Amino acid sequence: MNVDVTIVGAGAGGLTLATILGKAGFRILVIDARDEIRPVRRGELIQPLGLEILEEIGLLEPLYALPHIRYSEFVFLDGKGRPLMRSRYDLGNDRFPFAVSLEPHLMDQMVLSHLASLANVDVRFGAAYVEHHDTGDGVDLWWSEGERMCQAHTKVLVGDDGRRSLVRKNAGIPGRIETYRDSYLSWSFDCPADAPESVKNPLGRYFIGRGKIFFLFAVSPRRRFFLYMLPNGDRNSLRRRGLRAFLSELDDWVPGLGNVLSQTGLETLEQIPDMSVMKIDLDRWSSGPVVLIGDAAHAMNPHVAQGRNQSMEDARVLGKLLSREMSAGQGSVLQGIAEYESRRKPRTMELHRLADEMTWIWNSGNPVIVALREKVFRGLDKMPSVSRKIVRTISGLSFEPLTPMDKLKAFWSG
Ligand SMILES: Cc1cc2nc3c(=O)[nH]c(=O)nc-3n(C[C@H](O)[C@H](O)[C@H](O)COP(=O)(O)OP(=O)(O)OC[C@H]3O[C@@H](n4cnc5c(N)ncnc54)[C@H](O)[C@@H]3O)c2cc1C
Repeated sequence: MNVDVTIVGAGAGGLTLATILGKAGFRILVIDARDEIRPVRRGELIQPLGLEILEEIGLLEPLYALPHIRYSEFVFLDGKGRPLMRSRYDLGNDRFPFAVSLEPHLMDQMVLSHLASLANVDVRFGAAYVEHHDTGDGVDLWWSEGERMCQAHTKVLVGDDGRRSLVRKNAGIPGRIETYRDSYLSWSFDCPADAPESVKNPLGRYFIGRGKIFFLFAVSPRRRFFLYMLPNGDRNSLRRRGLRAFLSELDDWVPGLGNVLSQTGLETLEQIPDMSVMKIDLDRWSSGPVVLIGDAAHAMNPHVAQGRNQSMEDARVLGKLLSREMSAGQGSVLQGIAEYESRRKPRTMELHRLADEMTWIWNSGNPVIVALREKVFRGLDKMPSVSRKIVRTISGLSFEPLTPMDKLKAFWSG
């Protein structure tokens, strides 16, 4: 089999790239090791950046047809539930004055169903990439489908195979792969009609206490999702405290939530998966015609709520460059890949630095840092022009980190 581009991994980045290149008429093969796209008990935010990309590829209306919630603001509260600040998307004249929250598998299934209409795009599930060899005019690659080993020749091989990328490993791309100290429990549930108002309310709430983080938001009018920080990724101490103590802690933040979780099927702590958080910071993103996108290139901390959006932006930039260079021969393709890397890598490095700073401040249990943090948050609430910088950065549309002066001013105002 001969194709123009093979994409390993049908994640947000891979599916976006297949859409862009597929619509441009290239022969595309997508392989994914999963049997199918299955529901994940998770919520994710599609930031204005992601919405802009979906609009560009004609998939914004289909996204809006999925169950979702539009958030024009998120509320930050302290560990006792007292308001600290609101981060608002609707303060400027932005095209999308909101982020969309949904269950990410629904979005992936939607993009996949649109890909089915493109005869030049072949998407195979249950197809696990194994290895590849650079042939000078492209790449020979092998993957397994059940017992069968399959082979193809491709001009470009794109690794969108996630943070533990085998494409990255086989291409010998070096870099730093770190796991953050704290992990997160993540869970979602359908809110019963008779649930208390505090749980039914779809308000997006970040509780940030001393060494505690609890983030609750809605992913559809009925469904709710939360992330709960597990300090040091230590499940054992949670186990020792037990389910009852865990639920009662959640009740302190959101009255009635513990009861709703019990009613909706949470019977043991072991049911709740925990998620380690990784930072991938590579020396380079490509090796000849093999190139990485998404988490494989730059997995990042969810504090910046950007992973999926940045994967899609990788796809947008790489897709346009490959569309331009592919017909001009393999030399031009390599130039396009180099341009992609030089355009995209700096932004993800900036986001890594921001995420590290946020992690240091937000996850802290140090009472002095907590007191300073809360004062800055309160100050930011009174300074819309400064807090708007945060939202512009989180929206993915620009990078406007707070200056030391902004932080100082917020501190004095708080
Ligand atoms: C709890 C949580 C909350 C998050 N919240 C947000 C958020 O609010 N906003 C946001 O933008 N991002 C968020 N993220 C990050 C986001 O989920 C990821 O950054 C994004 O999904 C990465 O997409 P990707 O395109 O890199 O592919 P991935 O989703 O990493 O997919 C990789 C794919 O590769 C396939 N694969 C792996 N190995 C092979 C192989 N050998 N052969 C074939 N296929 C293979 C896998 O089956 C998988 O389908 C969150 C993540 C988590 C865990």
